Amino acid sequence: MEKIRMITPLAEMDGDEMTRVLWADIKELLLHPFVDLKTEYYDLGLPNRDKTGDQVTIDAAEACRRLGVGVKCATITPNAQRVEEYQLHEMWKSPNGTIRAMLDGTCFRAPIMVEGISPVIPAWTSPITIARHAYGDIYKNTELTAPEGSRAELVVTSPDGTEKRAQIHQFKGPGIVQGIHNTDSSIASFAHSCFRYALDTHQDLWFATKDTISKTYDHHFKDIFQEIYDADYAKAFEEAGITYFYTLIDDAIARVVRSKGGFVWALKNYDGDVMSDMIATAFGSLAMMTSVLVSPDGKYEYEAAHGTVTRHYYRYLKGEETSTNPVATIFAWSGALRKRGELDNLPELVRFADLLEKAALTTITDGIMTKDLVALWHGKAEAQGVNSRAFLTAIAERLAKLLETA
Ligand code: NAP
Ligand code: MG
Repeated sequence: MEKIRMITPLAEMDGDEMTRVLWADIKELLLHPFVDLKTEYYDLGLPNRDKTGDQVTIDAAEACRRLGVGVKCATITPNAQRVEEYQLHEMWKSPNGTIRAMLDGTCFRAPIMVEGISPVIPAWTSPITIARHAYGDIYKNTELTAPEGSRAELVVTSPDGTEKRAQIHQFKGPGIVQGIHNTDSSIASFAHSCFRYALDTHQDLWFATKDTISKTYDHHFKDIFQEIYDADYAKAFEEAGITYFYTLIDDAIARVVRSKGGFVWALKNYDGDVMSDMIATAFGSLAMMTSVLVSPDGKYEYEAAHGTVTRHYYRYLKGEETSTNPVATIFAWSGALRKRGELDNLPELVRFADLLEKAALTTITDGIMTKDLVALWHGKAEAQGVNSRAFLTAIAERLAKLLETA
């Protein structure tokens, strides 16, 4: 069989620990046999980030921007323990944070659904994608304790020296104060990424804040979204038959729980942090969540939502057999290859991406799965928990058949 052709390379970012092992296995068993794979390879494994003074992360983000589509393996975000473990020169910043800042992107997380593994909420028959604004609010806060009797004020000083001033609170007893901010440009980037992603995936977009209580701050988010929608996207949404819908966050929660799924839910930074964990848990498993970073000018970076699965990696190093779920990492590759195929007008590559996902899901519905899924399984076939390599081999067999026949 002739291998499927690519034109533009993907920005490929290798990573750490167990997911690095899976990364190589996925390429060997599921990609190289079928696709004439073209990538620009960046080793974001912690030893190489340390060796290059983290320049490799910057080069990789730049490659994502230049090539338009990237695929990333999970990476370690170092803490004090990792500095010791890897004898690092510095406690390098989170690669995801660096890439997100350079692409000015929004992260979309979506569960991978498969028959036989049900969400906790039975009505959810389609995935719910969370779009979390990844800048500002309490993640860049300034906070102080306020002694008894103190007065807290909010002061904004303009470049010409004029001041806007408002009292936050006149304290009788002791208390606390917090200042947070966001910027119009960051909110606008967030809005563009959300509208673009909704159009791309042909799903309705919901956005929710607490604008009834936060009449300036949250209301500003609502206004920017509405202005950008009216100016740039209303027509395209109408033509695509999808809707943009703003509602109060409390109302959104009630509607989400009663919904069938199948939409994108955009949220401010903190709300997105909390709700994405709720959605991931309610859909079943972190190992079945995909993540894609979308920049406001349409650059895409695909990855799994989970980390490097350190506990499994330590067992792997001891020579023990591991059953780590590679599905989200496979979907990172299929997502990137599909997008590359769409952009380069390569229907064969798009079809390969579809069949790769189908092969992975069919393997599970046939009862062959990694051990994390066995506990969640209630499908027809009897579940057989296998190691990662056996699971990938079973997917490869099905993929080869699908590519021949379909
Ligand atoms: P994690 O790697 O996601 O793993 C947490 C636990 O979830 C695992 O121990 C495992 O549970 C289960 N799990 C996650 N993914 C799985 C999979 N594919 N198959 C089977 N089980 C899976 O999170 P972590 O342990 O908090 O973080 C480990 C490292 O990853 C850290 O250094 C962190 O910095 C990094 N991290 C990177 C990213 C990223 O690059 N996007 C994201 C998050 C974390 P059991 O052990 O019970 O089987
Ligand atoms: Mg969180």
